[in-house]
Amino acid sequence: QRVAEPLPLRVEVPALPARGGAELVRALFEPLGWAVTATPVPLDVRFPEWGDSRYVHLVLEAPDATLTLGEALRHLYVLLPVLDDAKHYWVSPDEVDKLLRAGEGWLAGHPEQDVITSRYLSRRRSLTRDARERLELVRLADADDTDVDDIDNAVDEDTDTEEKPVPLAVRRREAILAELADAGAGRVLDLGCGQGQLVQALLKDVRYTEIVGVDVSMRALTVASRRLGLDRMGERQAGRVQLMQGSLAYTDKRLKGYDAAVLSEVVEHLDEARLPALEYAVFGSARPRTVLVTTPNVEYNVRWESLPAGHARHGDHRFEWTRAEFAEWARRVGERHGYDVRFVPVGDDDPEVGPPTQMAVFTQETKAAGAGRAAEAAKKDQVA
Ligand code: SAH
Repeated sequence: QRVAEPLPLRVEVPALPARGGAELVRALFEPLGWAVTATPVPLDVRFPEWGDSRYVHLVLEAPDATLTLGEALRHLYVLLPVLDDAKHYWVSPDEVDKLLRAGEGWLAGHPEQDVITSRYLSRRRSLTRDARERLELVRLADADDTDVDDIDNAVDEDTDTEEKPVPLAVRRREAILAELADAGAGRVLDLGCGQGQLVQALLKDVRYTEIVGVDVSMRALTVASRRLGLDRMGERQAGRVQLMQGSLAYTDKRLKGYDAAVLSEVVEHLDEARLPALEYAVFGSARPRTVLVTTPNVEYNVRWESLPAGHARHGDHRFEWTRAEFAEWARRVGERHGYDVRFVPVGDDDPEVGPPTQMAVFTQETKAAGAGRAAEAAKKDQVA
């Protein structure tokens, strides 16, 4: 609880690598309410004529309890690597999420926002652009006099005029939307909805009459709610959408009876030991007609720039599957719960290692076929 309480704070970093020097250090921290003392560290104290190193001795002070510890840590989490400017490990699209999460409440509108996003994302142009667009949304959403239409226009204009490779997250969303449309779904669950990008896309399409975003993270839901502008939405729109907190590791009566459920990049966030619980909650209890599951294809990781082979793409991924592992899991789940399954590649399908994202499309079997299959599965289990 204390991390959320304003406290008198003092932070000292005796040797901070700071590309851009003391001046940039001040430009980054002062707008956030810190009194900054940044003293260049000489290269070698015995030889002052050698000049300064690229390190500064940094002291940040907010003695009047104007900042919380949580805020201070989020400032440092983002700005120390920005000053170091030497992020070498692979920068994934998820890094944009991390930046926006840590930047919540202070990054949008920071006078040095451009330097911060560009350096934090290792100057990856497409990611930086993505981050700026989303920060713009946050800024617009925070300004009281704008409404949802302005926000939509702001984004569409930007994306329409730029030629750029379509980010994987967008291709994933498009693939999901295509499958949902094919399935003729109208009432859709977005399980592990995160910050609500898919919910937002679904809302724009009138065929989706009931959209429910579920996530275990209250913070993600708060961002989603703000992104959607739920509190400013007209009654008709608001009646189509609902965000709720819940864990997919538990059965939940509220989730029964929907046309389709999407689990986009969610399963790999659960410990493998919790997966059977999720399987039962989704395929056994909620039982939507169609279920879409996307997850990274670990074989593809060798194709990402600067992602060392054998490394997961995201710090919070508990596992990543090969195509064969995913297929095996999906078939077993389908068999056990009476769903047919087929696989759809998302992103460029590499002839050797496959696509970056793999998607399984589960469709509930008709009653008769399902009973047959279930009996077969039971027989197999018996034999086993
Ligand atoms: N579906 C979104 C977000 C993926 S990130 C997208 O495709 O962009 C994974 C999300 O799953 C996070 O928002 C995380 O909070 C959520 N999550 C992880 N474990 C969960 C659980 N047990 N129940 C519900 N949501 C969970």
